[in-house]
Amino acid sequence: MEKRQWPGKPGLRFTPGQVVSLCFIVVLICSSFLTWREVRVLEDSYVSSQRNRLESVSHGMDMQLQFNMDRLFFLRNGMQAALKTPLQLESMVTARRQFDWKRQQDAWSLYSGSRLLLTVNGVSDEFVAHGADLNRDDALLHNELTAALELGYLLHLSSSSSSIEQRTQYVSRAGFFVTSDPAEMSDIISYYAGLIGKPWFFTQSARDNRGRGIRWYTEQGKERGVQVITASIPLDLNEYWYGVLAMDVEVSALQRLLMEAIGGQHEGTWQLYDSHLLWLASSVAGAENGPTLTAADRQHILDAMEHDTRGGFLTASSYISWQKLKNFDGILLHVHTLREGLGGAFGNIIIALTLLWLVFTLILILSWIVIRRMVRNMIAMQESLEWRAWYDTLTRLPNRGALFERAAEAARVCQQAQQPLCVIQLDLDHFKSINDRFGHQAGDRVLSHVGTLIANALRENDVAGRVGGEEFCIVLPNTSLDMAVKVAERIRKRISAKELLIRKNTTLRVSASLGVSSSEESGRYDFEHLQSVADGRLYLAKQNGRNCVYCAG
Ligand code: GH3
Ligand code: MG
Ligand code: MG
Repeated sequence: MEKRQWPGKPGLRFTPGQVVSLCFIVVLICSSFLTWREVRVLEDSYVSSQRNRLESVSHGMDMQLQFNMDRLFFLRNGMQAALKTPLQLESMVTARRQFDWKRQQDAWSLYSGSRLLLTVNGVSDEFVAHGADLNRDDALLHNELTAALELGYLLHLSSSSSSIEQRTQYVSRAGFFVTSDPAEMSDIISYYAGLIGKPWFFTQSARDNRGRGIRWYTEQGKERGVQVITASIPLDLNEYWYGVLAMDVEVSALQRLLMEAIGGQHEGTWQLYDSHLLWLASSVAGAENGPTLTAADRQHILDAMEHDTRGGFLTASSYISWQKLKNFDGILLHVHTLREGLGGAFGNIIIALTLLWLVFTLILILSWIVIRRMVRNMIAMQESLEWRAWYDTLTRLPNRGALFERAAEAARVCQQAQQPLCVIQLDLDHFKSINDRFGHQAGDRVLSHVGTLIANALRENDVAGRVGGEEFCIVLPNTSLDMAVKVAERIRKRISAKELLIRKNTTLRVSASLGVSSSEESGRYDFEHLQSVADGRLYLAKQNGRNCVYCAG
């Protein structure tokens, strides 16, 4: 089927199919963007819900730890008060006297005789003289001994069920110490040497601990993991550093605090780490639940801890949020697995939203396929109707209307360019009798055959059309009358030369009469005039025996 842009048909930039596809792509992008936005909002809500949950548990732990911090401050304040104004009890005066007798001995103990006072154990003047951080200042010594003895009173005053302390000790730089749990002590010298070798002691100098506040220390045992962590605070008065008050806390006590703080919030795993990310406790029993962090996760948290107090990040299988504790030098960490996340309210909504988007996208793609097909069919139908409006279906040549339109255009162009325009009018001879003898179908085949012959005999700019039953008209732009007569003659010969097979064993020959006219004759380019002149000459050809070309008369 010949495709031709007829005058008046708007030239579209996009085909209807492309416009449909474009519309669907825009809808798909919009729906995907909206769904993505919605999922992002839900994600943000999920993160803040995780943060709130973590905050409430950290707050619970901090509240409990606060009590123990306050207790350590209370002990220090009590000892400072004792340093300023020591009690002048009989037992204390006796103890101080004992000290003066024993201070040269390698190891010594001062018994007060009272159950409420602690036993003071110490080492010799010589030991102190050789110790790096040690100093025995005689002017301050008696008051410090009294304060150490009084620590027993203070511990008694501050004992409470909320305490997580396992053991409290005071270690003096003047070569003595008191401990609330003497059972652990075997030999005084090595025990004291051990105490002053602990980081919680020797890092409390004015240079190392400028804030003079509480510090936490974790000591990892060789085989049993972390069992005890120590909170220590320096004892100073008048800018002199006397010693260190230390409180040992069993990790199991921290575990208990953690479980109390979690309360009903059992979703996910809660873990407690020290500031170096050494695992301490977990909400799920058993040490194997501790180190769930990968090396990359650990590094991520350690880096973030340098400038943030809390954070959260997504790993391949879980969402991890963490927060520094205020009253403990460590972090609380919450691990929420993907499965738990998807099982929760936010996860359910995200799954529903994703499914909805998938269904919508599927429907959109299906409707796009259907509509694309419908549009394609419509375009094909439109093109077929358009073709039928301009062409004759039997001969596949332009019909009368189309021919007249194109001939008028050719005439205008030729007139403008002052080129000759010729018209040939052709009518088959005795066509009626072909119909009568061989039937209408045979007549149709003859018409189709002649149409093809005419079309093949023309140049590109020539136009031929079927203008009546068995009548054809040929328009030849930029052609002289002589040339047009030659064309007409060539067509006539081709028609009469061909023998047509109509049915089995039946062949037939047809002939045509042709009339030719040219604008050269009258100087008129009016197509209808040229056609009527050619028609008149065709009539002459009929009258003069048919199967011939007339170009005058
Ligand atoms: P002449 O040589 O004088 O032209 O004789 P003629 O028989 O060709 O002239 P006439 O105009 O009387 O006959 C034309 C015939 O063409 C009449 C009609 O039956 C036939 N005809 C017109 N259109 C069609 C068509 O589409 N198909 C067929 N098969 N016949 C057609
Ligand atoms: Mg005829
Ligand atoms: Mg006729």
